[in-house]
Amino acid sequence: MPVPDGLVDAADSALGQDPSGTVHLSPPDIGPLEESYLVAALRSGWVAPVGPDLQAFEHDVAERVGTEGAVAVNSGTAALHLALLGVGVGPGDVVIVPTLTFVATANAVRYIGARPVFVDCDPRTGNVDVGLAADLLRRLRAQGERVGAIVPVDMFGSCADYRSLVPICADAEVPLVEDAAEALGAGHGGQPAGSFGRVGALSFNGNKIMTTSGGGMLVSDDTALLARARHLATQAREPARHYEHREMGYNYRLSNLLAALGRAQLVRLDGMIARRRQLRDHYAKLFAPVPGVGVLGVEDDESNCWLTVVTVEHEQCGWRADDLAAHLAERDIETRPVWKPMHLQPMNAGAQSLLTGAAEHLFTHGLTLPSGSALTEPQITRVFAAIDEFLRVRTGPSTA
Ligand SMILES: *Cc1c(COP(=O)(O)O)cnc(C)c1O
Repeated sequence: MPVPDGLVDAADSALGQDPSGTVHLSPPDIGPLEESYLVAALRSGWVAPVGPDLQAFEHDVAERVGTEGAVAVNSGTAALHLALLGVGVGPGDVVIVPTLTFVATANAVRYIGARPVFVDCDPRTGNVDVGLAADLLRRLRAQGERVGAIVPVDMFGSCADYRSLVPICADAEVPLVEDAAEALGAGHGGQPAGSFGRVGALSFNGNKIMTTSGGGMLVSDDTALLARARHLATQAREPARHYEHREMGYNYRLSNLLAALGRAQLVRLDGMIARRRQLRDHYAKLFAPVPGVGVLGVEDDESNCWLTVVTVEHEQCGWRADDLAAHLAERDIETRPVWKPMHLQPMNAGAQSLLTGAAEHLFTHGLTLPSGSALTEPQITRVFAAIDEFLRVRTGPSTA
């Protein structure tokens, strides 16, 4: 997982016991409700990857996202893999992937033997640059490539520009697979994240907006696609008393116990989003007077505010994102760079890309700040005081 937060630290912080320990970026937010749901599931005897919590969790998430149905799996990566298979991506296809994303988006393409082609982002949001993606689509077609899908990512909990993307994909007859791993609970024009493509993929990893410790889900209106994904996720086992298999499948189903955890988290989702929004608003206020420092996507009031990212133009403010990161690290406060773009990853050396430099700029000038809903008041006070102190020392003289 991209952000390894200690479970013990997180549990302590959730209970407000450890204001002096490390402040993590996005620790799991687990409390008594999760405990009661999990214990009830354990006592019910449904401890396998089948059971009433699994069904209920799928139903509840589909309802929340506004899709016909959902299939719960054991990671967001597995959901992406099955989603791509579901829209017919095959070996040798190319798939358009934003260069600014977590590696899972590109890996899911590679699992199929398809090839990710990377496209740059809008510098204001970090989301896919729609004009550039349309241009890339034309170029790939002109090269004679079969474009199996386009996979916009809802970066840091803000939806991509679907108002523009959806008609482009429809006109070009290219399936849209929404990587909504970071965006459950967000929206775009009043429509929920996860519902924009033919199929969407959610993640419930430990650092995400809500967690099942590890897990994911496909959401879609295409019930045939979902039925096929459910089949493939259970080793493509045929309905027979013995073990019958016609094709290769995967062991991707989510445990019923973890689905119970997910149901409790879903009950609390809006509260957890509100908490993260408060943090983002406060960061925005802190940095507002500083020239050259901004909060990514701060104008998106439909974001779920998963992670708050500040962008630092050192020519204007006189300090770099790394300086703030070092100052906070000395005070045991975790920060992290923005995703390192896919086209800069050694594993993707030589991959085809269409770039403007926007993602690379965000990588070198951006910083992810503690954003978790489980952060306690004393921890938050510590973070804000540390930033205040930094700004007084660093920004004061250079802007005077
Ligand atoms: C977290 C994440 C995933 C993968 O989810 P896992 O549950 O960790 O497999 C995929 N895409 C993006 C953009 C993510 O942030």
